[in-house]
Amino acid sequence: MGQNQKIVVVGSSNTDMIIQVDRFPVPGETLLGKDFRIFPGGKGANQAIAAIRLGGDVALVARLGRDLFGDQSLENFKKEGLNVQGVVQDKELPSGVAQITVDAAGENTILVASGANNALSTAQVSEHAGLLESADFILMQLEIPLETVTFIVEKYGSTGKKLILNPAPAYHLPVKMYADLHAIIPNQAETRFLTGIRVTNEDTAVHAAAFFHEKGVEVVVITLGAAGAFLSSPDFTGSLPAPEVNAVDSTAAGDTFIGAVTAGLCTGMDWKNAVIFANRAAALSVTKFGAQSSIPFLGQVEKHF
Ligand code: ATP
Repeated sequence: MGQNQKIVVVGSSNTDMIIQVDRFPVPGETLLGKDFRIFPGGKGANQAIAAIRLGGDVALVARLGRDLFGDQSLENFKKEGLNVQGVVQDKELPSGVAQITVDAAGENTILVASGANNALSTAQVSEHAGLLESADFILMQLEIPLETVTFIVEKYGSTGKKLILNPAPAYHLPVKMYADLHAIIPNQAETRFLTGIRVTNEDTAVHAAAFFHEKGVEVVVITLGAAGAFLSSPDFTGSLPAPEVNAVDSTAAGDTFIGAVTAGLCTGMDWKNAVIFANRAAALSVTKFGAQSSIPFLGQVEKHF
């Protein structure tokens, strides 16, 4: 503990607009929903906020619009204590938005209009090279251009920094990218998309992890919803269950998990303990509505478990 390693998250920021429904509408159907709420979200911002609330030293590289949502997001990042040197407001494009529907069982559907996130370019990353060079961990997702993620992996993959990729939403990745990743953290659907393997038990999880290891990824974590996560690392391989909780909304459970794992690692935990910690933090997040509003603080996780 107390090593204070630095995390740089390069990723998306969105404003989430959430409607609660009894059931999802089918195409062509108009349904009357229940509550409507607006929350800050986006996988990059969510994971950065999870990492800082859970003990990390975190900078965010992101792109917003010069609009109300963009101004609010920037204020919010500052309030959370994130280093925002790498956050840029685009002169033309709007801030990203996500339209989220949550049903009575706590399942969600999400539709994203990326806006300025699509312009988080290799040029923006190069302009903030100093920030990336100061990182011990670089955390990325796929809600920004794949070209930007590929550029970062090529540039920093063999510099001793630990690169962690959450391949969400799932895209086919250039095969040579894998060798430069320290870790990949997909959920079950992303794992199936990338490997063709449906993870239903420990055997299938081992096979799916082998797909990534064979290409050069050192650590694989497959998140398994209420069942927790499967970790395949040089020191430990096996399932690590999540605590049982009363689930009301799984939005940002994955983001909380990934931010928590990274915060755990940067404060000195090994992978197994970081995954156990992340299961606890993510389980707490599904007991609350919303994305960032549901991400717990370190003290809450420590108090609860
Ligand atoms: P989402 O897209 O809903 O944010 P995800 O599909 O990316 O989530 P999941 O594998 O569903 O990711 O969940 C991530 C983590 O959240 C799990 O590994 C687990 O730690 C925790 N989690 C999710 N659902 C539950 C639940 N019902 N009870 C306890 N923990 C949960």
